[in-house]
Amino acid sequence: MTDFPSVSQAVIVGGGIVGCSTAYHLSRLGWDVVLLERAKLTSGTTFHAAGLVGQLRSKASRVNFESTGFSLA
Ligand SMILES: Cc1cc2nc3c(=O)[nH]c(=O)nc-3n(C[C@H](O)[C@H](O)[C@H](O)COP(=O)(O)OP(=O)(O)OC[C@H]3O[C@@H](n4cnc5c(N)ncnc54)[C@H](O)[C@@H]3O)c2cc1C
Repeated sequence: MTDFPSVSQAVIVGGGIVGCSTAYHLSRLGWDVVLLERAKLTSGTTFHAAGLVGQLRSKASRVNFESTGFSLA
């Protein structure tokens, strides 16, 4: 890889849903982002996810957290 940047505003380790989502949203905000993945993007636990996006949880804090995440998708 010859064009690998030596400077970045954010370096994200791991290209699962969390890393990819963080990179996506920081990029949309104009951040300069580098994402490091040791294998293939989404090849970790994300590869096995069933795709369910639940928002009804036992605690209000988790409902708020997941509803906010859902609205970002
Ligand atoms: C069978 C199954 C079904 C599921 N179904 C659902 C569902 O329906 N709905 C739901 O919300 N959740 C579901 N989940 C949970 C969900 O898949 C995980 O919570 C989510 O994918 C975790 O994402 P992540 O980005 O944190 O981790 P990961 O997807 O595991 O990503 C981590 C990444 O980091 C990389 N990495 C690790 N170490 C390094 C390193 N040193 N350098 C560079 N890269 C590194 C890995 O290669 C990997 O790609 C399910 C999980 C399983 C196992």
